[in-house]
Formats: sequence, C-alpha cells, structure tokens
Amino acid sequence: IKFADLGLAQPLLRAISETGYESPTPIQAQAIPHVMKGGDVLAAAQTGTGKTAGFTLPILHRLLQNPSTKSKPGQPRCLILTPTRELAAQVEESVRTYGKHTSLRSLVMFGGVNINPQIQALRKPVDILVATPGRLLDHVQQKTLDLSAVEILVLDEADRMLDMGFIRDIRRILVLLPKVRQNLLFSATFSDEIRGLAQGVLHDPVEVSV
Ligand code: AMP
Repeated sequence: IKFADLGLAQPLLRAISETGYESPTPIQAQAIPHVMKGGDVLAAAQTGTGKTAGFTLPILHRLLQNPSTKSKPGQPRCLILTPTRELAAQVEESVRTYGKHTSLRSLVMFGGVNINPQIQALRKPVDILVATPGRLLDHVQQKTLDLSAVEILVLDEADRMLDMGFIRDIRRILVLLPKVRQNLLFSATFSDEIRGLAQGVLHDPVEVSV
C-alpha cells in the first residue's frame, strides 16, 4: 500500500514524498482511511509507530476538504491535546511539515512559559491548535481562545495525560466543545480508566491497534 492509494490530497502527498516516506506504517494504513471518512478512532499505539502522521495527515485532509468554514482568530477547527510540552511541540512540528504546501495554520501552546506571546499568536487565524490541557484552560479563562468551532478533537497519549492528573482539565475542556465533532483517542495502554474516558468521548469508534 502506498500513501497515494489512501486518497490523501495532493499537497499532503507532496509533503510526504519530500519527507522521504515510502509507504504508510501499519497504524497509518489502519487509521488514515477511518479518520478521512470522519469517523471516531480509538487507537492503541506507542511512540515510534508513526501515530502522529496517522492522525495529522487525515486531519489536514479533512480540513482542506471542507474549507467553507473559514478559520478565525482564536477559533481553532482542530484541537490536539498532549500531556507534555515536548510532545505538543513535536506534534505541531509534524502538522507544519505535512501541511507545508497548504494554507492551513497551526499553533502550539503549553504552560511554563510567558502567556503573552501565545495571546498575540491567537489574534491570527488558526486551524489546528496543539496544546497541553492546563495552559489551554488558562486561555479559555482569559477569553483569548474560543473552542466553539472545534470540529476535530485528538487526545494524544491519553494514558499519560491520565497518569499526570489531567483528567479534570480534560473534562472541563470537553464541555466547552461542540457536541457534534470527530474524536480520536491515542493511548499506549488500555486501563479501565482509559476505557471509561473513551466511552464518554468517542462515538461508535473504530478500534485500531498495532
Ligand atoms: P511517531 O510514532 O509519530 O512519533 O513517529 C515516529 C517516527 O517515524 C518519526 O520520526 C516519523 O518521522 C517517522 N515516520 C512516520 N511515518 C513514517 C513513514 N510512513 N515512513 C517512514 N517513517 C515514518
């Protein structure tokens, strides 16, 4: 199987070939078609499997497909939550790389740094926001961020987010999102707690694991 067989948009295929990827990894081959169709996905995947491209590529594809919803300042169409600033930065870097031939805009924000440059950045249109939960809520509280236009939610490394005590923040964020949306949950392990979170967040998910 080749990336072109998955039906990804031309600007994405160009970025993929420039990155030097030959073919999709197993998690990509499984997840990309479902995410492209708009379905919810529950994925068991460790770091190193190519999971990041497994969700960022089809998300970029969907956002390109439906450009009618214009991106607005401070109103992302896709929200990707990660447990750590390192992962947030890494995921946003992937979004940037794969989306470099599109006009989609991404932004990363995490705690432990000055909030003001992030507030400035939110004054520009943003399509994809990658964030850690605590700082995201700070922005909601300051009204510099509006989550009412979110079409796609990703919980990346959900098990680590729970381990780090982010469950309350995640629940606070969930109630701020539109009820009708696409949801993707990635986790290396599947505890009862993860299953419970998945049950509350995902609708009729396809399960993929590698
Ligand atoms: P991840 O599991 O998302 O952290 O990705 C692990 C590494 O695999 C990253 O360095 C990616 O650049 C790389 N990678 C992702 N997809 C592919 C692919 N289809 N072919 C080769 N390398 C890939």
